Amino acid sequence: MSTDNLKRSWVPTADGHPDFPLENLPLGIFNEPGGSPRGSVAIGNYLLDLTATLEAGVFEGLALEAAQAASENTLNNFFALGSPVRQAFRSALLDVLSEGSRFKDVLVDAIHLQANCQMSLPARVGNYTDFYVGIHHATNVGKLFRPDNPLLPNYKYVPIGYHGRASTLNISGTDFKRPNGQTLPGNASEPIFGPCQRLDYELEIGIWVGRGNIQGEAISISEAHEHIAGLCLLNDWSARDVQTWEYQPLGPFLSKSFATTLSPWVVTAEALQPFRCAQASRDEGDPQPLAYLLDQHDQNNGGFDIELEVLLLTAQMRDTGLQPERIALSNTTHMYWTVAQMITHHTVNGCNLNPGDLLGSGTLSGPKNGQYGSMLEITKGGSEPLLLKNLEQRSFLLDGDEVIFRARCKRPGFTSIGFGECRAKVLAAQVI
Ligand code: CA
Repeated sequence: MSTDNLKRSWVPTADGHPDFPLENLPLGIFNEPGGSPRGSVAIGNYLLDLTATLEAGVFEGLALEAAQAASENTLNNFFALGSPVRQAFRSALLDVLSEGSRFKDVLVDAIHLQANCQMSLPARVGNYTDFYVGIHHATNVGKLFRPDNPLLPNYKYVPIGYHGRASTLNISGTDFKRPNGQTLPGNASEPIFGPCQRLDYELEIGIWVGRGNIQGEAISISEAHEHIAGLCLLNDWSARDVQTWEYQPLGPFLSKSFATTLSPWVVTAEALQPFRCAQASRDEGDPQPLAYLLDQHDQNNGGFDIELEVLLLTAQMRDTGLQPERIALSNTTHMYWTVAQMITHHTVNGCNLNPGDLLGSGTLSGPKNGQYGSMLEITKGGSEPLLLKNLEQRSFLLDGDEVIFRARCKRPGFTSIGFGECRAKVLAAQVI
């Protein structure tokens, strides 16, 4: 919303909140201690319990339909609703939460401090697909293996992806064990088994699929944007040494499937509308996308301008009371393919997507130092360790390290919104 139309909220801390002012209104699944999981909307440091809001009788029409779906213990049924229903819900929420709302008195007990609540996954994820559309990441990683030819020939024609693992999607704050696996030490001819020695993170955004499609009926590029319900932050934890040994010929397997961390709030397509942008133009000499992936409206408006931040909190930093240290700052404008192109390509063979399916963007690195979305890139494959301010060094992640992602949308004349945090800590590997 333009600042010309700036509204204020009656909810304390909402006005000027870095992540969750009135203009954001992301959805998530919460529970109070001892309570059952149900849908909510973040506002300032608080969340609005949608079940209690429904009981207060504040919604009607399309907004009522949306609120009923969003109050369930997952957002799958809410995601299945189209954009007009979501927009009606958003306008009703803006009304209900704005200063001067006639519902303030009945809703005072429906807001809870987020700090007193637990969050769970926004949806039952039937399928999770991880793409590879961060061109600088693909180039940086490719250079480590093929200095003269970092990008494979298909990259500029195909939005590359692979099918990920839905069972190990974790909500932010869920710590996980370092994976065990097979690796091939340098110069060895036989693999060894044990804890991963080159554990890494990948800075990605997650795309929550809204309405799905029927198997056999592809989603056209002109309609694909209507299937985006919202975005979150996604950390695709990666065991690089396991990956190197296992990835040929079929791609990543156990190097990726042990844990993926998601931020809890779904920032809706409607809230992100002011932060859409033109897709970055392709380099001279790059091919145009094939016709089924090319749509002028998508090229003009299909990008997102979202600032992405990576912070590291080591055990030593935690023990000595230091704050997390920022180790990268990047942006979603580094995507070579739009989200609409990812959706269309995913379905073009007849594959159906369902509401609540999740797509990962792939690692979103920038081209320069300080913009890299993985340790693999920061340390050039482990050969140039990262020196932290407290003089610790990291080639890859150690036990006790916690990785934190944050994201922010900024545009002159518009209220800035954020995503909240996506964070998790590495625990020691299981002894096998
Ligand atoms: Ca990835």
